[in-house]
Amino acid sequence: MKDLDSFPRVSLGVFPTPIQKLENISALTGREVYIKRDDLTGLGLGGNKIRKLEFLLADARARGAEIVFTTGGAQSNHAMLTAAAAAKLGMRAILVLKKRGVTDCVGNQLLEKLMDTDVRFVDTDDYADIYAEMDRIGHELGRPYYKIPCGGSNALGALGYVACAREIASQGRHFDHIVCAEGSGGTMAGLALGAKLFLPGTTVHGMMVDTDPFDQITPALMQQTAQLLEASVSITSADYPLRDMCGPGYAIASEAGNAAVSLLARREGLFLDPVYTGKAFAGLLELIEENLIGPRENVLFLHSGGAGGLFAIRMDGDNDYMMAKSQKAFCRAALPRSQTV
Ligand SMILES: *Cc1c(COP(=O)(O)O)cnc(C)c1O
Repeated sequence: MKDLDSFPRVSLGVFPTPIQKLENISALTGREVYIKRDDLTGLGLGGNKIRKLEFLLADARARGAEIVFTTGGAQSNHAMLTAAAAAKLGMRAILVLKKRGVTDCVGNQLLEKLMDTDVRFVDTDDYADIYAEMDRIGHELGRPYYKIPCGGSNALGALGYVACAREIASQGRHFDHIVCAEGSGGTMAGLALGAKLFLPGTTVHGMMVDTDPFDQITPALMQQTAQLLEASVSITSADYPLRDMCGPGYAIASEAGNAAVSLLARREGLFLDPVYTGKAFAGLLELIEENLIGPRENVLFLHSGGAGGLFAIRMDGDNDYMMAKSQKAFCRAALPRSQTV
């Protein structure tokens, strides 16, 4: 197997990110619950995309790119963080975004404004149109460019989360379970492969927040990433347990997700987001409720960020966790279905 450190990588973040015990949630659930603070990766407002971008932008640089394209919905955390990373590296980012969801100058759009990012909206639901538009703009500008796929989720991007698994191993505590959100797949694929390589006895659970066929996407991306690493692993479905936490749709708040956002805010002073991490944490609570995380087991939750998008979401009503549990919806995302990455 190749050494992870042999891959070109630019330094963007602050690593290792801390692992903390959630004392109050642990007391509440009767399990030892820990959190990996990848919301504190140290660039922009933090988040999981920084780890992927360290590998992706090193590749872009090595290929002589001056312009970096990426895509997503109007409130894409990934697109905003790509612009932040490009700014730091002195590259030009052009975001070709789907003209869907909250395009107002709030949330990630506001942050892009502050960075003076070149943002272009395309009125389409098809990523093929978006990638064609990138090529059109790239040719028009006549400078070398590099296209990063939506979410940064290819094998090279997923290396960031193989590296995260290695980092967790180096932090010294064994975890029986790790739980993360799965939106475009790179984080889950990287962690699940990384666990096979560096974290024996740890199961990584992917909490699906979109309706894509992750039962196919996840093992395919794990396999491609293993190939890149020249690691010989045999991947079975036990290596990537998945759970559908999407609720009413991608980027539409779910009652369970909102309850989790509220729970961590009230009991731990930590902010999750309703699109990814709230739904993922709700999945962790379900695993405990169903005893799939047993009383003698511990669990590490990956906080993958999402702060940028948080401020584009309107929350209203009653923030009471118990009320939420008894069917009272209290939070509503202003984003329509499946439009944001
Ligand atoms: C992109 C994102 C995810 C999902 O990660 P993928 O690698 O796309 O599956 C989770 N949480 C946040 C906050 C994100 O921005």
